[in-house]
Amino acid sequence: MGGTWYWNRYPGIACDVESFVYMPLLEELGYMPTEKYAKGAEIFAHCRAIAEHYDLYRDACLRTDVYEIRWEKATSRWIIRTNHGDEMRARFVSMANGYQAKPKLPGVPGIGSFRGKTFHSSRWDYGYTGDKLEKLAGMRVGIIGTGATAVQCVPHLAAATEHLYVFQRTPSSVDVRVNRPTDAQWVNALRPGWQRERIQNFQILTSGGQAEEDLVADAWTSITRKLPVMRHDRNGSSAHDIELADFAKMEEIRARVDEIVADRAAAEALKPWYGYFCKRPCFHDEYLQTFNRDNVTLVDTRGRGVERITEAGVVVDGVTYELDCLIFATGFEVGTDYCRRTGFELIGRGGVKLTDRWRDGVRTFQGLCANGFPNCFIESIAQAGLTVNFPYLLDVQASHAAWIIAWALAGGGTEVEASPGAEAAWVDTVVARSAATAERARTCTPGYYNREGKADAKTRQGSFFFGAPTEYADILKAWRVKGDMEGLEIRGPGAGP
Ligand code: NAP
Repeated sequence: MGGTWYWNRYPGIACDVESFVYMPLLEELGYMPTEKYAKGAEIFAHCRAIAEHYDLYRDACLRTDVYEIRWEKATSRWIIRTNHGDEMRARFVSMANGYQAKPKLPGVPGIGSFRGKTFHSSRWDYGYTGDKLEKLAGMRVGIIGTGATAVQCVPHLAAATEHLYVFQRTPSSVDVRVNRPTDAQWVNALRPGWQRERIQNFQILTSGGQAEEDLVADAWTSITRKLPVMRHDRNGSSAHDIELADFAKMEEIRARVDEIVADRAAAEALKPWYGYFCKRPCFHDEYLQTFNRDNVTLVDTRGRGVERITEAGVVVDGVTYELDCLIFATGFEVGTDYCRRTGFELIGRGGVKLTDRWRDGVRTFQGLCANGFPNCFIESIAQAGLTVNFPYLLDVQASHAAWIIAWALAGGGTEVEASPGAEAAWVDTVVARSAATAERARTCTPGYYNREGKADAKTRQGSFFFGAPTEYADILKAWRVKGDMEGLEIRGPGAGP
């Protein structure tokens, strides 16, 4: 239980999406986050509270790896095989494997030769560092990567180590955060239904729409106001206006570096020179300040990444930085085959593997169902609505899958499966709507948003279902209201509307 928040326990972990919209089911559980941007431990505790509240632990198989999920035609059931030798049978499967779950290590020559301690940021070894990082005192620690994870943990490492070396390939854009405790007066004034309203308002403002009120009012929601490229209607802006607005926003980010970082060389190296959404924006009030400390060295690799890792440490520009411990904050696999990332194969009707079916790109109907894979819902961001607030999308997809399952259980049919035609039409729509983003990705600096600069037709097919801010959710809702199950093939007793 907890996913991201179970695995990621690095020091400083927090969610940079506001907790009142990010943490689900607050009203249902009667819980109020303690801060505008909750820390990881609080979010993880909330995940467990949800599981307790809905009695999910009773049927959960914890510490269980799925090895394979195979469709059995004779019984219209999925057979789920696990590392414990289980063979579980399920009429429906819903796959919520996470978008970034498989830790990625850099392919740096010599990575296996380092004699000191290494670990990935999502597998933090507190046995080694101490709960409060006290065991790092007197140590030379290196961290590779400067994405959202590193931005949050670097200030803590700097405070705990004798010397910290931050190996940077590309600087992140780091905007203001301004975290604060939850205001009791504000809480007391909230009326039932406040969270859904706030989530909807945030979704509209961060996905290109406009609203009279900005309930969250933070750096995320201000981006839409500043960047016409983010607006669904583009507000009549020309390509020139869009480019200029983007440049102005990035100038603001770069000016903040100049204001905070004293050392001129470090400040120049920390300035991001790319379009705003080329990389995942970051927000932090202590990260840049860390580079003013005497015990912190920024080792900028000017976009090239570190040269080599040796027994003693990390080599950049021929200089060896000797280390006791090296931490990889190098992110997670993105854009590789879905089943490679889940760690198990999905084998559908006729023995067809999902990996083979998706060899040339993701194919879904409604970003959830795939032809050849009946009674299966693949919850992922591919071909589903754009959001920066992932629990919002999970809620939209889970509600939709639950509705279809309830319909089938109520006698609608034994098997429900995306029809080839409906799937093809959904794929075509996704591809057509991603034209502008695909073009922009081409001009961006490499990163996981554009498959390290190698985005191709397959990457484009796995895009979001771009559209108006809540269009994806609205399409699914309208489809449920219509109720004729158009786009799904229904088989078995009770089949047919
Ligand atoms: P990430 O954003 O993928 O960043 C990985 C970092 O490692 C980047 O700086 C990257 O450099 C660097 N890197 C990767 N391969 C490298 C190589 N071969 N040599 C040198 N450097 C290399 O990973 P993350 O920071 O762990 O974040 C993962 C996901 O979690 C992101 O989607 C992030 O938004 C999310 N996250 C969210 C929050 C939140 O508060 N909501 C907090 C943390 C993380 P380049 O930039 O040059 O590619």
